[in-house]
Amino acid sequence: MTRTRAKGPLRRRGPEAEKPASVWHRAHPMPVRAALDERLVWHAEHLKHCGCRPVPASLRALVQPARRPRCAWAGTDPLMIRYHDEEWGTPAHDDRRLFEMLILEGAQAGLSWSTILRKRDGYRRAFARFDPTRVAAFDARTIARLMKDPAIVRNRLKIEGAVKSARAFLSVREEHGSFDRFIWGFVGGTPIVNQPHGLRDVPAQSAESEAMSKALMKRGFKFVGSTICYAFMQACGLVDDHAADCFRAKRTGAVHAKRRDE
Ligand SMILES: [Zn+2]
Ligand SMILES: [Zn+2]
Repeated sequence: MTRTRAKGPLRRRGPEAEKPASVWHRAHPMPVRAALDERLVWHAEHLKHCGCRPVPASLRALVQPARRPRCAWAGTDPLMIRYHDEEWGTPAHDDRRLFEMLILEGAQAGLSWSTILRKRDGYRRAFARFDPTRVAAFDARTIARLMKDPAIVRNRLKIEGAVKSARAFLSVREEHGSFDRFIWGFVGGTPIVNQPHGLRDVPAQSAESEAMSKALMKRGFKFVGSTICYAFMQACGLVDDHAADCFRAKRTGAVHAKRRDE
């Protein structure tokens, strides 16, 4: 007769699980007067590694969002989930927000989006709350200071690119009245709703993003390749790529939306 091994203690666990919670705590002091995003991330990590103190009531819904069917890319990171639930695919028409997303999508190139979300407050501080007029006026000294700011991606091309894009943004606004009017022209003013079935069904670019990319490059914008433009279109709701089974898809499949195959 062979004896069955007890499952508990012999079960394989990840290296993190073997570390006592006190080790985790020493390496991760609780952020006190930090931005909301930073506190969210801390509490979510704390729940994974320890959980000795409850999540404050004010943060609970954000740290432990309701389990709902979502686009797979949203994963379990509370910042990604919040971004997915509240922003991604929602039509944006405010010039400042459009400028913010254009700069953040460009900053992301080569990095993960969750990295950018963790730096978003830093970006807002470093880039004058994404006021394009102020960013357009950044001089060499400001750029040198930003190159030392750990709250943003310290990449000279990206920082200088953002300043050039701000200048181009102002000239588009001058020419078209608003950046909003100009950029929504690439989709005829109405969101394109794709309702993809799973991640592999989501395009990385489209004819519209290609046209947008060419137009922006011609006007002197930087970090505006077709893929970045497509990500911008998804972020600002020019394209709605919420998966068919995502809870956000049902709400946005509105009367005014047109489908690509129409
Ligand atoms: Zn703890
Ligand atoms: Zn979704």
